[in-house]
Amino acid sequence: MFGAAIVSSSLAIATSICFLFFSTPHKSFYHSLFLSSTFSTNESISNHLYTLTKRPHIAGSAANAEAAAYVLSTLESYDIRSHVRPYYTALTYPVRRSLTLATTVRDPPIELRLEQEIYEDDPYADVADQVTPTFHAFAKSGTAVGLAVYVNYGRVEDYSVLREMGVNVSGRVALARYGKIYRGDIVQNGYAAGAIGVVIFTDRKDYGGDGKWFPDEKWMPPSGVQVGSVYSGAGDPTTPGWASTEECERITDEEVEKSGDVPLIPSLPVSWESGDVVMRSIGGMVANEDWQGGEGAPVYRVGPGPGVLNLTYEGKQVISTIENVIGIIEGVEEPDRYVILGNHRDAWTFGAADPNSGTACLLEVAERLQKLQKKGWKPRRTIILCNWDAEEYGLIGSTEWVEENRQMLASRVVAYLNVDVAVSGAGFEASATPQLDELIIQAATQVQDPDNSSQTIYDSWISSTNSSLVGRLGGGGSDYAAFVQHIGVPSADLAFGGGYPVYHSMYDDFTWMKKFGDPLFQRHTAVASLWGLVALKLADEEILPFNYLFYALELQKSVEDLQGDVSGRDIKLAPLFKSIEELKKAAIEINDKKKSLKGRKGWTWTRKDNQNLVRELNDRLMMTERAFTDGEGLPGRLWYKHLIYAPSKYNDYGSKSFPGIDDTIEKAKSLNTADSWHSVQHQIWRVARAITQASLCLRGELK
Ligand SMILES: [Zn+2]
Repeated sequence: MFGAAIVSSSLAIATSICFLFFSTPHKSFYHSLFLSSTFSTNESISNHLYTLTKRPHIAGSAANAEAAAYVLSTLESYDIRSHVRPYYTALTYPVRRSLTLATTVRDPPIELRLEQEIYEDDPYADVADQVTPTFHAFAKSGTAVGLAVYVNYGRVEDYSVLREMGVNVSGRVALARYGKIYRGDIVQNGYAAGAIGVVIFTDRKDYGGDGKWFPDEKWMPPSGVQVGSVYSGAGDPTTPGWASTEECERITDEEVEKSGDVPLIPSLPVSWESGDVVMRSIGGMVANEDWQGGEGAPVYRVGPGPGVLNLTYEGKQVISTIENVIGIIEGVEEPDRYVILGNHRDAWTFGAADPNSGTACLLEVAERLQKLQKKGWKPRRTIILCNWDAEEYGLIGSTEWVEENRQMLASRVVAYLNVDVAVSGAGFEASATPQLDELIIQAATQVQDPDNSSQTIYDSWISSTNSSLVGRLGGGGSDYAAFVQHIGVPSADLAFGGGYPVYHSMYDDFTWMKKFGDPLFQRHTAVASLWGLVALKLADEEILPFNYLFYALELQKSVEDLQGDVSGRDIKLAPLFKSIEELKKAAIEINDKKKSLKGRKGWTWTRKDNQNLVRELNDRLMMTERAFTDGEGLPGRLWYKHLIYAPSKYNDYGSKSFPGIDDTIEKAKSLNTADSWHSVQHQIWRVARAITQASLCLRGELK
């Protein structure tokens, strides 16, 4: 209390001094003010989170519409011009499901429990009946009866191991455990191996802790189930590439099935308790060491059988109304340049970590921006705050909005900054397109580490890792996908804490967050500070804080990684190296130009010819990322236009550089024909041409 009071009075003095001597204080003054303790209110963050997570609020539900109204009215209360943009999208809900296990011919089959249990004194007991029954969104309806086969994490390499062991998955029901790859790919890989159904369980080893669990510890309770989507595309599957407006074209269910993005066999998620029962019914060979469970688990065997699984899932697909909430703070000098902050609101159940820790931070950023405006700050560029819907089903709200506004966004967005799960524990994590690396790292040096007040986020971040600080956005994990992978907007994704055990279960609630995720809400405050600071720099700095040298160096590293994959083949990587060399030169040139402009004597930003010069330079910096996109998209994946970053074909969570080259190499390795290797070379040329386009754009050069 005492400390805060002192900070507040000294800031008040600083403000008045600034106003006394300068007509407008320098932007960096406001940026420091944004970070000051008088501006941050971890109490209001926790209030937002508490309110948003009172009830389960799955996409398309009345509870989620209520949450949208809360976000809208809160933004409006901060004087931010806001509106709701609805879409009418295909969502699925469970109607009926059951899972039984027959172990012997004589005994009746065991009914496996699919419900998650409330606990003693659970404050959410009276709304537990509003939790949607556990299911996989977009799962195929149907029944599968077959011998159980244990397939580890359900990766392509796990099926190779089974093949080597002589285990046939065809016509069987696969039992996979969650954890290494996207659940949609677990089902797709099972289907490719011939399985007729897939059951995915939460293994205690990965999520269960040591005999203690929520509410006593942070771990997943025995009945906890990870719900989630098994759809592999982005956006409403019935409107691929265009927006789901009220009256719009839709493709048929048959066409959706043909797209390959929805599974063609039924699946169900189950708890570790139910997974354990099935596991004990599987005989046959003992599975490899790294396929085994944790302490107290039975010996895992691969089967098939003798346990027989009987899985039934019946879902209904309905066109539901979803609502994005959009708030706009118009820029003064460049209103037609947008810096966008986005987070989703819909949750499988209560969604305290995923995603409303991020929503609470978004509202905190909004409140602090209002306070800044009251102190006289106005952004140079327009700041847009987006609260997406139906992310959990397949990034639907953000994708429909990007598709609807594609041309406007492609010509105007400077950067997109995503926060999904803002907080699930300690430790800062960031992923971005590489020209933003420097900006994020620099911002991290300005924000205090919430878990150690004697250092900055940067200090603890750098000491926590031996590899590169900033990850990449190749995976399809959140709402940045449409911005980066569809239209080529420089983007970032920020979070505190990595994976957490109660993910997508009904235990991801306010109690869990308060006890384990962020008891003091100081991590939330830190996310809001960093997220807002990066946005402020992008919105206010005269010259965009992009450094493409990081991009060129990153690309070079990725090509070096490719070398091993094509060695001994008649494949030339020279076009890539050459184009990257050009990009490097262009990046150095523009960096020098920025420096010389900033250092120039007597330079005034307000002079018209200077403004034009800066605008032209900024346009080059903004549009260079677009040059990595190609209208034709990736081979067989038209929607994915970005040739550098896209999800891996066999794991939607995986981040790959050069996905087109990578996919064709995988194919060529298995086909090993001259033609298939020729397509690898073609993809290499395509990427090289895109990089060349990027360097021409960065130079502002006409050939
Ligand atoms: Zn999420």
